[in-house]
Amino acid sequence: MDIRTEIIAVGSELLLGQIVNTNAQFLSKELAEIGLNVYYHTVVGDNPARLESALKIAKERSNIIIFTGGLGPTKDDLTKETISKTLGKTLVFDIDALESIQSYFAQTKRTMSENNKKQALVIEGSTILKNDNGMAPGMALEVDQIIYMLLPGPPSEMRPMFQNYGKEYFQKRLGMQEKIVSRVLRYFGIGESQLETDIQDLIDGQTNPTIAPLATEGEVTLRLTAKHIDEKIAQELLDEVEKKINARVGEFFYGFNETTLMNELKAQLLNKKKTVAAAESLTGGMFSELITSLNGASRIFNGSIISYTNEVKIQSLQVKEDTLKTYGAVSEQCAKEMAEQVRKLLNSDIGISFTGAAGPEPHEGQPVGTVFIGIASEEQSNVYALNLAGSRKGIRTRTVKYGCHYLVKLLNEIE
Ligand code: ATP
Repeated sequence: MDIRTEIIAVGSELLLGQIVNTNAQFLSKELAEIGLNVYYHTVVGDNPARLESALKIAKERSNIIIFTGGLGPTKDDLTKETISKTLGKTLVFDIDALESIQSYFAQTKRTMSENNKKQALVIEGSTILKNDNGMAPGMALEVDQIIYMLLPGPPSEMRPMFQNYGKEYFQKRLGMQEKIVSRVLRYFGIGESQLETDIQDLIDGQTNPTIAPLATEGEVTLRLTAKHIDEKIAQELLDEVEKKINARVGEFFYGFNETTLMNELKAQLLNKKKTVAAAESLTGGMFSELITSLNGASRIFNGSIISYTNEVKIQSLQVKEDTLKTYGAVSEQCAKEMAEQVRKLLNSDIGISFTGAAGPEPHEGQPVGTVFIGIASEEQSNVYALNLAGSRKGIRTRTVKYGCHYLVKLLNEIE
């Protein structure tokens, strides 16, 4: 069968530019991975007549039509009602969904309205896609050789529903035997173009697994995807290509899938039983905010001194006045003293400091993007000098990431 897939996103907010259609982007990527070609992305407002006409057009040109949005009470169940009406189907209560809605309201001691109850209505004869993160179930059904799938709008509900149930529905329904496995490799300290150049021949020669690079705020990720009937073999295909890639750029590799540099730092600090304290000027507490957002942070983080002005650097951190006069706050010497002082004052194994010019104006004559990160341990002090480009926000965010990266490097060297 020649499969032509269409995604119809329902929501006036999308047409008004209030939100971006990330659901269509996500679904397109996921569908490509299982070999389903998406030919059309349609967006339609919260209007039954226009949704009906979009559906009519889609029926003419597509044989898989996936809807997102308009499943819940905020849009009067627009998608569900319109599709069931157009296909000549009735809506019936799904007992499981009704029970889970009822127990949610019982648990939270709130009264269930008729509108809430309506969320458990599904199109007769459809396969139910469970909603593990919300109330409105998704559904899939086939009518006159066209498969319809209805998914909720909120990405936090739609994504897991599609990954856990929607994909499987297509694979079963279309007799797909192959298992698809993905692995994300994360890199820091190397630019996207450099990484791509280093592995260009592997990217050019890719078929199975495929290699998809993506860059975000100072980081580069590679998404590897392999297909095989035997999942174990698919995993081995991923292992093989991962080995080849990391033989070349492994020094910049820091972790898999959803991990972050801060997560890796936490793991290393726990592993080596070390604590860290921070002296933050340029980053104004950003490092501390991120590290304390991890659970169990008190075992690895003692505290920080946000020393934004010279006065605070002198009074609270006890940086020498002379150092500031002679070299300035944005200097290697100041970064070194800040890291050493905070380590001592906050009684930690490691001290880290951040100082620099985030812009948009130069600071003390130092050009925007000049950054010094000091790292002090009992044995040694190091200062890393960076020249970063980009916005104030970007410079500060990347400075924190570099800080994590250098700390992980130091901890890797500790026995
Ligand atoms: P509910 O009414 O229960 O919230 P729903 O399935 O009716 O769920 P919508 O009301 O259409 O979903 O959308 C809810 C929210 O989901 C939107 O306000 C928006 O934040 C997000 N959303 C909807 N569609 C998209 C989309 N295509 N891309 C990204 N986000 C979306």
